[in-house]
Amino acid sequence: SQTLPEMLAASVRAFPSRVALEFFGASTTYRELGEQVDRVAEGLRRIGVAKGDRVAIVLPNCPQHVVAFYAVLRLGAVVVEHNPLYTARELRHQFEDHGARFAIVWNKVADTVAGFPADLALERIISVDLTAAMPRSKRLLLRLPLPAARASRAKLTAAPRAKDLLDWKELLRHRRVSRRVAAPELHHLALLQYTSGTTGSPKGAMLTHANLRANAMQGEAWVPGLQRGEETFYGVLPLFHAYGMTLCLTFAMSIGAKLVLFPTFDVGLVTAAARKSPPTFLPAVPPIYDQLARAASRGSLDLSSVRFAISGAMSLPVATVERWEETTGGLLVEGYGMTESSPVALGNPIGPTRRPGTVGVPFPSTEIRVVDPDDPNVDVALGDPGELLLRGPQVFQGYWGRPIETAEALLPGGWLRTGDIAEVSEDGFVTIVDRLKELIITGGFNVSPSEVEDTLFAHPDVNAAAVVGLPRPDGGEEVVAAVVLRDGAELDPSALRDFCRARLTPYKVPRRFVQVDELPRSLIGKVLRRSVRESLLAGSG
Ligand code: ATP
Ligand code: MG
Repeated sequence: SQTLPEMLAASVRAFPSRVALEFFGASTTYRELGEQVDRVAEGLRRIGVAKGDRVAIVLPNCPQHVVAFYAVLRLGAVVVEHNPLYTARELRHQFEDHGARFAIVWNKVADTVAGFPADLALERIISVDLTAAMPRSKRLLLRLPLPAARASRAKLTAAPRAKDLLDWKELLRHRRVSRRVAAPELHHLALLQYTSGTTGSPKGAMLTHANLRANAMQGEAWVPGLQRGEETFYGVLPLFHAYGMTLCLTFAMSIGAKLVLFPTFDVGLVTAAARKSPPTFLPAVPPIYDQLARAASRGSLDLSSVRFAISGAMSLPVATVERWEETTGGLLVEGYGMTESSPVALGNPIGPTRRPGTVGVPFPSTEIRVVDPDDPNVDVALGDPGELLLRGPQVFQGYWGRPIETAEALLPGGWLRTGDIAEVSEDGFVTIVDRLKELIITGGFNVSPSEVEDTLFAHPDVNAAAVVGLPRPDGGEEVVAAVVLRDGAELDPSALRDFCRARLTPYKVPRRFVQVDELPRSLIGKVLRRSVRESLLAGSG
């Protein structure tokens, strides 16, 4: 049984001259990747990184991100992932939470991190220039918004304070990892992966090598006909989120695939990359599939090479599936997971028996229960809605520094409370109704915002929708929809209401429709209904 660095080492031995990583057309073979991991591991060891230390990574998707990840793990240390586009304040909160002494950061945010207060545990910062891994001619293509840098500039010029700042290149001096370094073991912590922060502040989920390895192997068992050493994975999802970390990175590296890395999702970048390396495996989220399918139907992008398109992290509208499958000729299947389960726990069969609108069946060696949210010891009757519980080798060890939340999430016997309402069909297919916290209570009936959103999404004028409950004077809630319309369309509330009435029971039909330019989304693209609700409340009050 193998830890993550051993899984990578096995691919280095099996496929030394195959391409492991591609970034703006520049490639790194498995042999080169293995060598770089060894060098950086030794470089990190010499500046004091040791077993059990937490090492923060604040990088977009890039080759150095992958090298840093495996080098930290090689030393038995723990990777802590961060969204590099967080504001300075959000980043600082996260550093306060995990207290890492070392950080490997994008040079654009190095000053921000170096400016963090002295009472943080942080001692050394390694700065990475992404363009160093890119061909010179492509460097102008790297354009990312930078809230952290913007927010902190003023403060920094006022009080420049240098923590020990090191350049990435200085980690590459030594060829081999010292013999004194003991390899990590399966039960050791590998990763602190923060949840998306959709329902509250992000929590650091503690995942071991065994957790992450289990999910990569469950993924391999899920996808039929994968060819080791032959696949091309597209890493359009951020590696700092559980979904991209497992379904792009650790999965790709464990089967010797080529991983094409995108620092941000952009149709133009995907189109350019697809000419050189057509994708075969594409994990993404519904808004990405919509954009890609639109480009494919215009004829500017050929996606016929994609054999496996996998959607997760949020509900996948059936309209998106239809559009994708019509334009590409391939299947788009939905799975379900959460950071706390490394992340994937359920998936549709990848083949003709998949069932759009459901998240499929439990992964191998994963068990589920559907229980009464008020008493999770009591299972509901088959087919009834209830809270989904999960158990399996991919379930996490708890939240970093949060014993109370850990005890709430992890029940005796190893069951994980998902906080999601699900229903199971006679033949075992699971439908996610919604998050427990986001159900709307109108006059005694529960409305699932997702169901209403999916209905609206099927309307030709609607580009996106978020449905929330707003307080009514009588104490209940009313259903309100914030909608983003397609270019050129005008808001016609009575037409939208009629469209919903024809498809939904009356109490689910939104009372009000509010047009918005865009919806607030997390970096992976989840609609933040919490923020939608707050701004609608502010607007109407
Ligand atoms: P936080 O826990 O910080 O509030 P989060 O739950 O959004 O944020 P993640 O771990 O990224 O953080 O997301 C897991 C959640 O995503 C699940 O609990 C579920 O609500 C949602 N989800 C994942 N896959 C699907 C899916 N296929 N359909 C509907 N919802 C999904
Ligand atoms: Mg969650």
